[in-house]
Amino acid sequence: MEEKRRTRVAIVGSGMAGLVTAYLLNRDQRERYDVTVLEQGDKLSLDSASVSVPTRSNTHSERIDVPMRAFAGGYYNNLKAMYDFLEISYHSQPFLFAFSEFKGHDQNHPPLSEEPYFIHASNNHRIPPPRPAGVDLVSHIMEIMYLLFWYSWFTVCCLLMAPLEANSEGLSETLEDYTRRIRLPLYFSSRYLLPLIASVTTCPRDVLLQFPARDVVDYKLQTHGAPHYTVSNGVKDVQTLLARDIRVRFRSRVISVKTDEGQCSVSWRKMGDGELEETITEDFDRVVLAVAPDVVGEIFAPLQKATSCIPTTRVKSVVHTRDACTKDSPNKALDGSDISTTEIGPVRAQLINIRSCLRSGHTEAAHFLPSEVVVTTCPLTPLSDETVISSTTFTRVLRSPSSRDVINRIMDKPDSGAGEGGDTEWRNGDDNIWLVGGWCWDGMVLLEGCMVSAMRVADEFDVLYSNWSWASHSPSYLSGFSVHIHPAKFPTLLPRRSDTKDFQTASESLLLQLLKFAGLRSPDETPSNHRHHNLDVLDLGYGCGDQILALLHAQSPFRLPGGPVSSFRLNKYVGITFNQSHCDIAGQRVGQRISHRGLEADVQLFCGDAANPDGWSRTLLGEAESLRNRATERNDGLLVPGTETWVLALDSMYHFSPSRLPVLKYARQTLDASLMTFDLVLADDVSSLSRLALSMVAKMLGCPFGAFMPVREYREMLRTAGYEDDKIQIQDISEHVFEPLSQFIERQTVVLQKVGINIGKFALAKHLFRWWANSGSVRGMMVVARTSEQNKDEDVVI
Ligand SMILES: Cc1cc2nc3c(=O)[nH]c(=O)nc-3n(C[C@H](O)[C@H](O)[C@H](O)COP(=O)(O)OP(=O)(O)OC[C@H]3O[C@@H](n4cnc5c(N)ncnc54)[C@H](O)[C@@H]3O)c2cc1C
Repeated sequence: MEEKRRTRVAIVGSGMAGLVTAYLLNRDQRERYDVTVLEQGDKLSLDSASVSVPTRSNTHSERIDVPMRAFAGGYYNNLKAMYDFLEISYHSQPFLFAFSEFKGHDQNHPPLSEEPYFIHASNNHRIPPPRPAGVDLVSHIMEIMYLLFWYSWFTVCCLLMAPLEANSEGLSETLEDYTRRIRLPLYFSSRYLLPLIASVTTCPRDVLLQFPARDVVDYKLQTHGAPHYTVSNGVKDVQTLLARDIRVRFRSRVISVKTDEGQCSVSWRKMGDGELEETITEDFDRVVLAVAPDVVGEIFAPLQKATSCIPTTRVKSVVHTRDACTKDSPNKALDGSDISTTEIGPVRAQLINIRSCLRSGHTEAAHFLPSEVVVTTCPLTPLSDETVISSTTFTRVLRSPSSRDVINRIMDKPDSGAGEGGDTEWRNGDDNIWLVGGWCWDGMVLLEGCMVSAMRVADEFDVLYSNWSWASHSPSYLSGFSVHIHPAKFPTLLPRRSDTKDFQTASESLLLQLLKFAGLRSPDETPSNHRHHNLDVLDLGYGCGDQILALLHAQSPFRLPGGPVSSFRLNKYVGITFNQSHCDIAGQRVGQRISHRGLEADVQLFCGDAANPDGWSRTLLGEAESLRNRATERNDGLLVPGTETWVLALDSMYHFSPSRLPVLKYARQTLDASLMTFDLVLADDVSSLSRLALSMVAKMLGCPFGAFMPVREYREMLRTAGYEDDKIQIQDISEHVFEPLSQFIERQTVVLQKVGINIGKFALAKHLFRWWANSGSVRGMMVVARTSEQNKDEDVVI
């Protein structure tokens, strides 16, 4: 038999985004992709500017990543998960940020000579922070008090006053407008906040002020209290692992990508040792551009206009000896101790001297490393040649509300506004061309953007990669928490470890467990003996759409070789939610993504009271009943053989008022649907007094008075609805729900208390869940009620 030709994919660029994309496509379980990376340099670029220098003791060498590849907990879930997966060792790295003021290009002010006016210890690992030389005690204490106040204020504003998504031009609020709206004083912004952020974004103050405020607020909230990490031996190992088995053509500078009827013709200049040698043109089936937007505009004509409004800048990073710093004052605290060598646990804090010119708004960041070398980014003054070990200039992609709008449109993010420059019709994946890179997502231009965009491409190529799976932020238990758990901009990666530590992951796990319990996913995630199901789903309470995305994703097949296997396919999904804004958000998040990804599932979202089918609109009733019709066709063996109708209610039915019964009857009697739900019930042996107390609690939670009932009454209710007793399965999973949930709230409470926020309502929830966990009076149950034996697999084991 003739072997099927593999899809030829060219990836242009070998930075983090290009390499992760190549890695994922190259490991497609069905080996459908023949990947070639084209790189203009003569080595892989992720690590190309890094250097090795001898340590102080001269016994071995230290690998220094250039540019710095630091990452912070909370923001870099996918990067961290990948490092875990690849078993890359990284460690938490405390920093001391010494703020100083650049006084001007004056011979009397040699580089890095200014005294710091404040030293901030990351995550407050040193309390009080070290007092800089030249600052008296009283001034130091006053400065700390001032900073404490304004930093707390800024944090509270980030939590409670979201940046505006659209002004009159449809563009999001800039950082400048946001800081003005929340009345941050100039002294605090210009001496602390902006230099600190500028050290991450490596751009001048005025450019930074034009960033979308959303970027900064999200970064702040997601990294709040989280440690910074650095890869222990530099990203060289990451690069080696990612590039293994990948064909790379070095010295190949791509000059054009043209498309014609689905074929992509890529031309590049093959560079010899000195001169440019030849131009080569080759056809590929698909092309992934993993380069900066200005290069995209140059080589791919349809994006020339759109990418021209994405700002970029050139950033210089110089590795040099400490001799360049004529005075060592930034290193010294008043007590004479060298702050750059402060021991924090097993790791030494490292000093980053942030020097700003308050007049011009330029900021330089000098990172003092243990091996006596310094990496200075955006140097404000020239460094003498003798001290320089290496110097590299990078292209840094910047952000602005209009570039954000353009990128969101290209990436098909539904809620992008209608601003200037957003007139591109081209969408990621059109013409078989995809974009990846630190800038190809809705967030700061950092390594996490590389991960998210590469994973998106892998997902769109239907690639089966490890047990990295899409999760989403679904604050359904604690909807009020949405003030600080922002809905996912793009999906994040599930941690590999089994002891799930975050709420979003837990929500998806719950859905997956329920699918397994219903026999719709293989219980041990292996393909053996598992029947395939075609599903029609009526979802009662879909929130902001997370479970729809999770459900759609759960159906896509396999991950690791021999790893998790899907056993169902979603034909049609009809969802109902009570809240109009949830419906809008879910519609935007899910609708376009589905159509763009060419998924076959027909998804219909409605706003309504899921508990009360009598009140449903005619259209909703029509769509819901079409689920039964399709099933009926299946039963007649005519149109869609093998389709099953399921009603899904994930953590929603105890809110149904006046009771769950009307919709259960509708499910069983009108739709002939099986039911899968996670629901709350009362323990059988609960006393009358506790029952009364719990009914009151239920009322406070907005549930009807009799919402919590013992299991036997629950079964009775299902029987009344028409489900036969022997087709009802109930499994108690309380131990996996209440105690972890209360611990989760506790962790969040600690974070918020650090910034002086009292979350009384949620503290109450924490006690409630702990009470349920300890007393066992309320149980969390997975319930499956089937309409017929036909739905049941023999091998359902949890
Ligand atoms: C000074 C500095 C410090 C930073 N610090 C951090 C940090 O601490 N943490 C963090 O998360 N992020 C940091 N970043 C951002 C992060 O490094 C980038 O977002 C990320 O490296 C971008 O990776 P990429 O794969 O998208 O692109 P790049 O790394 O820019 O890769 C693009 C590749 O394409 C190649 N290329 C370009 N044109 C062509 C062509 N025509 N043909 C063939 N090949 C071509 C280039 O040679 C390069 O290899 C920093 C950035 C800078 C500049």
